[in-house]
Amino acid sequence: MQTGIQNMINTSTLDSDTENKIISLLTLLLEKSIETALTYSLHAGTKQVGSQHIILGLQYQAHEFLERPELDTEFADCMAQIQNMSEDDEDEESEEDEESEEDEESEEDDEGEEDEDEEEFKVSLCDCDICTKCNQYENGWDDWHPDDPILHGLKTAINNVKLRLNEESE
Ligand SMILES: [Zn+2]
Repeated sequence: MQTGIQNMINTSTLDSDTENKIISLLTLLLEKSIETALTYSLHAGTKQVGSQHIILGLQYQAHEFLERPELDTEFADCMAQIQNMSEDDEDEESEEDEESEEDEESEEDDEGEEDEDEEEFKVSLCDCDICTKCNQYENGWDDWHPDDPILHGLKTAINNVKLRLNEESE
């Protein structure tokens, strides 16, 4: 089944180049945010990456992502990968069934292993650049008003997630 967003992309007038650019940006942003979340949680001495770490990672990347000098190269690499992937997809439709069966099996194996509650969030006292900035961006988050429409949208999206998390923890 296609989700609404897939439908929108498929039926929109976006050419495949623009589509790949959007996918590359999203992929990189997520990748970097998860990396940051992982670093922060390790430096804070936590064993699991929790929702709060992901939020800190997203907030960090909302500030840093578009400013990073490596972005151009990473973006080009990611675009190339995605273009290769969509070419491969066209050749390998018949293999898809086999792969999804394997995925189901491995999911079953993982089940039940980690039913524990999320480990309590700890503020990292580490003074590395990532931890310092994560804490700094968290403290100043409400006062951050980016002009860029992409960043503005990103901030709204992160706020929605934070709101939902607060509601759940109450
Ligand atoms: Zn650190």
